[in-house]
Amino acid sequence: MNDQMVCIGCGATIQHHSPDKAGFLPQSVIKKKEPTDDIYCKRCFRLRHYNEVQDVELTDDDFLNMLQELNKEDALIVNLIDIFDLNGSIIPGIQRFAGQNPIIFVANKVDLLPKSLKPARLRQRITEQAHNYGIRPQNVYLISALNKHSVEEFMEQLEKERKGRSVYIVGTTNVGKSTLVNQIINNATEEENTITTSYFPGTTLGKIEIPLDDNHVLVDTPGIIQKTQMSYYLTPKELKIATPRKEVKPRAYQLNEGQTVFLGGLARFDYIRGDGNQSFVFYASNEINLHRTKTEKADELYVNHVGELLTPPLKNSPKPLPKLKRYEFTIKEPSDIVFSGLGWVAIDDPQTKIAGWVPEGVDVMIRKQLI
Ligand code: GDP
Repeated sequence: MNDQMVCIGCGATIQHHSPDKAGFLPQSVIKKKEPTDDIYCKRCFRLRHYNEVQDVELTDDDFLNMLQELNKEDALIVNLIDIFDLNGSIIPGIQRFAGQNPIIFVANKVDLLPKSLKPARLRQRITEQAHNYGIRPQNVYLISALNKHSVEEFMEQLEKERKGRSVYIVGTTNVGKSTLVNQIINNATEEENTITTSYFPGTTLGKIEIPLDDNHVLVDTPGIIQKTQMSYYLTPKELKIATPRKEVKPRAYQLNEGQTVFLGGLARFDYIRGDGNQSFVFYASNEINLHRTKTEKADELYVNHVGELLTPPLKNSPKPLPKLKRYEFTIKEPSDIVFSGLGWVAIDDPQTKIAGWVPEGVDVMIRKQLI
């Protein structure tokens, strides 16, 4: 392959190794190209011909480079986050990278949470989380890109908030960025049927521009998988099971001290000590089986049944999961133990001592109850 080949849509260097990364084009297509041909990567090709975007991933360094470019622009920065994976999808350094540019948070996938949850409370909790990371979003919107819930209203507000500036949409992978941008494209192309992509000189970062008006654009930026998210360790098939698609049904378990609940084979929750028998509420994809056992038998159960009774991961997965690692917490106020990218367990009683287990590398953390 000629290393100098560059996509004329997004500027990414053409490569044929990683379909999920910027600039991908199958080798069979590359071989047919003449040096003088215009070359589009697969992502830009699909955008041009099918008006459909796909997310691509950047390396950590490229992602930082891209963020660094943000403060050179006069732009409104839209950080799309996944309500089901708040901590995993907040980009910690975004405020610094944004410079003087305002940031708004758009929390996607609200359809996954119980309908009884008050939007004002949810917005408040998201704002608090943002503040914990030193981020001061100008506004927090709640949408469901998949169900088109509140997307139009958000677009109308965006038009007011951007005050004539361009808009950059940034987010980690799996937050639903492609789903949202595709909807925006569909709305924008009702009359006129093509989207122009344009090359950013000097960048190889796979950004895509969607015109908003004559002088301003909406820029879809590539995502990044944070290594602390469960999704980093799963195959696409496993990720499909672990990513909830429908409203998540809270599952309450009455546990005694010394009892354990497995979330498939992806995480484990041990009730160590507390005020006797108590209720713990699990929030995770409905397709993940929860399995209760005695803590003293849990290690053995895991070794013998991971990939079968305890699934996902799938049996003989080509991407073996790292060993589960244990983290201990003592609850001081009603809290959630969050398994990054998988879900959480709500605990009410102060002074409860628990352990959360996740594949080594994945984050597990404690936060004030979300719901
Ligand atoms: P990207 O990696 O950020 O581009 O994310 P995608 O658009 O590919 O979406 C990742 C996953 O989340 C897919 O399984 C989508 O169907 C799902 N998804 C996207 N938006 C929503 C939403 O509003 N609600 C729900 N429940 N799922 C969504």
